Amino acid sequence: MMNFESFADDFGRAAKPVMNMSIYRGSFQCACGQSHWFDEEIDIICEGLMKIMVVCPNDPTFLTSLKIKTFMVFKFKGFVSLAGTHLKGEEDMIAAQTIRSLVRMA
Ligand SMILES: [Zn+2]
Repeated sequence: MMNFESFADDFGRAAKPVMNMSIYRGSFQCACGQSHWFDEEIDIICEGLMKIMVVCPNDPTFLTSLKIKTFMVFKFKGFVSLAGTHLKGEEDMIAAQTIRSLVRMA
């Protein structure tokens, strides 16, 4: 768990989510402490190089960055949780929304 700034910084270069995620199905360890099933219901804020930043389906104040583990790109081997954050207060919520809109404008 990190504060939001470190979490966003740790994620690094963020881009608009364009990866075809339909081939990646599996459970992931969420920042909220539970594990969730990853499917099209999961809200993706942005993506990086074989990683994504997702919103907890139960509590939108928890964000997790997930590495997509594959074998030679085509074989999905699961999600690895890299970091998590708990959005505290309006400032963090706005910052998360800003990332979301910025990557969609780029
Ligand atoms: Zn969760």
